Amino acid sequence: MTYDPHNIFAKILRQEIPCNKVYEDEYVLAFHDIAPKASVHILVIPKGPYESFDAFTKAASTDEIVGFYQAVQKITEEKSIVSSGYRLLVNHGQNGGQEVPHFHLHIVGGEKLGPMIAK
Ligand code: 5GP
Repeated sequence: MTYDPHNIFAKILRQEIPCNKVYEDEYVLAFHDIAPKASVHILVIPKGPYESFDAFTKAASTDEIVGFYQAVQKITEEKSIVSSGYRLLVNHGQNGGQEVPHFHLHIVGGEKLGPMIAK
């Protein structure tokens, strides 16, 4: 799979379409999910052109990878969900149900979450 620069998150990064921004630094942009599954549902995306977790982890620099996960931690702290708990979720590819082909991590919390996988 090659990176599609026309995907919706690439357009958000280029500010061609709006988002409800939560956090930004040199490595990441984070914004509220348009269809939240819980009272806190934030998407964290790297600024580089990586279509999936697999692509990001293989091709991104160490600074980008560390910067990404440090940003995730900062956001959970800023949203005051560390002590109450939260879930981090990454969907990869078809079986994982990945809809947008730009790597993104979901931060979900703010309430008691259901089972990890619905059967
Ligand atoms: P995936 O299923 O790929 O892991 O998750 C994609 C997520 O992106 C979904 O939770 C969906 O609601 C969210 N999403 C799709 N399009 C947009 C958009 O234009 N803006 C925002 N903020 N979220 C979006």
